Amino acid sequence: MPTNVRNSGEKINLDQLLLKQVPLAQYSSIHTGGVADLAAYPSDFEELRELLDYARENKLPITVLGGGTNSLISDEGIEGLTIITSHLKRRHVQGEMFCVRCGLGLDRAIDLAIEDGLTGLELLGGLPGTVGGAIHGNSSAHGTSISDLLYYVDYMTFDGKLHRKQIHLDEFSYRRSPFTDRHDIILYEAGFRLYPTTQTSEARKKKDEVKHRRKTNGQYDNPSIGSIFVNPEGYKAGALIEQCNLKGYSIGGAQISHRHANMIINSNAKATSSDIKALIEHVRQEVQQQFQITLVEEIQYLGRW
Ligand SMILES: Cc1cc2nc3c(=O)[nH]c(=O)nc-3n(C[C@H](O)[C@H](O)[C@H](O)COP(=O)(O)OP(=O)(O)OC[C@H]3O[C@@H](n4cnc5c(N)ncnc54)[C@H](O)[C@@H]3O)c2cc1C
Repeated sequence: MPTNVRNSGEKINLDQLLLKQVPLAQYSSIHTGGVADLAAYPSDFEELRELLDYARENKLPITVLGGGTNSLISDEGIEGLTIITSHLKRRHVQGEMFCVRCGLGLDRAIDLAIEDGLTGLELLGGLPGTVGGAIHGNSSAHGTSISDLLYYVDYMTFDGKLHRKQIHLDEFSYRRSPFTDRHDIILYEAGFRLYPTTQTSEARKKKDEVKHRRKTNGQYDNPSIGSIFVNPEGYKAGALIEQCNLKGYSIGGAQISHRHANMIINSNAKATSSDIKALIEHVRQEVQQQFQITLVEEIQYLGRW
């Protein structure tokens, strides 16, 4: 991964920042997808604004990619400019407020918060992806949602303006945030109001336990993008898929996981994103036919679909 950290006062060099024809499968946790026409890894506010200006002046569509753990990237790649957030990863503490840039891995952010003597996010330990991706889709685990302790989000609209949103919990729901349907913003920094503690070893133990549980239930064993479908009201998507006898069913290199029917895996590294999409459609049809329930994707489609 390129590094493009500037010294302070140094002028931004767009030629260095903008990379052409960047293969994206490496940024997808299911290891599929084509090439970004242009990609960049901004590491601060000024670089981000410069990139957004460039895209606007050249009428390029913009796609934001976090950890790629809940997105299916088209085999035909992503048009325009793909902003990969992995270099936006600083954090600082203000009293009980843990402030973190949105490209930092969530699991790492939880470790750093504990290091800073702040707790509350431990039950999200081991959840793949970035802080920004988790806020975008209001990720949750073990009864804790990322929105529960979120206090503010700073985001930049694609016109280069920075905004602060104070968080109101009633704007978040299962896998939805006020940002989910916005295609004109990049989440930049999040502030979490956490609980100060001197018992950091207890917090670390709690986090390690939930992460270990994820490991032992096999969800990291094969490349995937997590749950494909949201649970329809009153049902579990995985149970519906299992009742259609689809566990292990495959199209091309894409296969329904034997362990989690709501996950598709790329176990032999031969799947394409088109295989995965075809499998998603097949599952939807089968569940529709058998239960008259239409499954809706949790995952996001990025690029030329
Ligand atoms: C093995 C496995 C287990 C999982 N378990 C869970 C679970 O228990 N609970 C759960 O909720 N999810 C789970 N997931 C799904 C995934 O981990 C979460 O959805 C995660 O929060 C996605 O983060 P990301 O950075 O990878 O997002 P990406 O996949 O990169 O992006 C997802 C969406 O968010 C947008 N986005 C990302 N970052 C930004 C940003 N900074 N600004 C604007 N938009 C942005 C992208 O454009 C895209 O539309 C799991 C996934 C895997 C692979």
